[in-house]
Amino acid sequence: MSDTKKITVLPGDGIGPEVTNQALRVLYATGKLFDVEFECEEFPFGGAAIDTWGEPISDVLIEAAKKSDAVLLGAVGGEKWDTQPKDKRPEAGLLGIRNALGLYTNLRPVKVYKALTDSSTLKKEVIEKVNLLVVRELTGGIYFGKPRYIKQEGEEEHAVDTMDYRTSEIERIAVAAFEAAKKRDGRVCSVDKSNVLDTSRLWRKVVLEVAKRYPEVELNHLLVDNCAMQLVRNPGQFDVIVTGNMFGDILSDEASMLTGSIGMLPSASLGNGPGLYEPVHGSAPDIAGTHKANPLAAIASVALLFRYSLNMNDAAGLIESAIEAFLDNGFRTADLAAGSDDKVLNTEEVGDQILKIIQQNKNELQEQA
Ligand code: NAD
Repeated sequence: MSDTKKITVLPGDGIGPEVTNQALRVLYATGKLFDVEFECEEFPFGGAAIDTWGEPISDVLIEAAKKSDAVLLGAVGGEKWDTQPKDKRPEAGLLGIRNALGLYTNLRPVKVYKALTDSSTLKKEVIEKVNLLVVRELTGGIYFGKPRYIKQEGEEEHAVDTMDYRTSEIERIAVAAFEAAKKRDGRVCSVDKSNVLDTSRLWRKVVLEVAKRYPEVELNHLLVDNCAMQLVRNPGQFDVIVTGNMFGDILSDEASMLTGSIGMLPSASLGNGPGLYEPVHGSAPDIAGTHKANPLAAIASVALLFRYSLNMNDAAGLIESAIEAFLDNGFRTADLAAGSDDKVLNTEEVGDQILKIIQQNKNELQEQA
């Protein structure tokens, strides 16, 4: 008898629904190959939820998400809702769902596909071996620390933000990084600013403690300024990078640009309950409705869903190698197209090709078994 998993689907706005549709096709088809069925419940989210409920997120959606095995998200936002007050904008829905699910770990894998080494702004020989994972702490640090204010003091204004971290917050993100490294190349680089900040000195101390539980994983430390430099000097040296909220925000964007295209990058946000999976890109209103959206980031997010929420590494690998084969075969989307030999496909055609390759690869694996 096949297993049934519940997925909450939040397509969102702009190209969100377009790429999510292709991601869902891959989810269903891959699940079928591994005898897993999916019950997907879809809700309006972000701008679409404002149009439906007057709010970017609803309690009914949060309740459904909490009861599901995972959440699959497209993207939110658009000009139509730009004049909404800050807490009623589509992006407030993103913070709302992250808070509601207690998602304290953000995983952003950055892989440079061989077929796309010419798409980056960096030299081919610098980026060709890049296959790294940024593990960013998502719910603590300076973005949430108190006190925070701007106040008038005599002639001038005075602004304060507070960076704080507790042992427990550092410990759980360090565990996430070491666990991820165990499933990869077994190397963790912890990034801090321990030559200046007390929060970073605590960070380093706790990471060293956690490392004792993972003797099979190699640990090194880098100061954040050095890490920013190493990411453009020799990004191929990294396996897993673990860091706090603000450093992770900046470094993960820097790392993502190594690939040359935002349409390729998936992400996972994990806590103690269901994980949330989404492409890194936004709702791209400039190309919404034109069938030009690249769905590969959304499809790669499904691979992460299989790996981290369903513990199905083979299914994840099947999707990831299909993306690689798709590119090796010369297929491209408009954002990736470079040369006259490229076969440029629209959003739905990308889904068709990926499904075809997944089925072929699965058949080959079965024949070899
Ligand atoms: P964006 O990521 O939507 O688009 C940036 C550029 O990349 C655009 O030229 C777009 O056409 C292109 N692009 C993005 N994804 C693509 C894809 N899959 N295929 C092909 N091309 C792609 O960023 P933006 O333009 O700064 O923001 C647009 C809206 O998205 C804003 O309302 C913003 O607030 C929102 N946003 C949402 C998220 C999210 O939902 N997680 C993230 C970032 C931005």
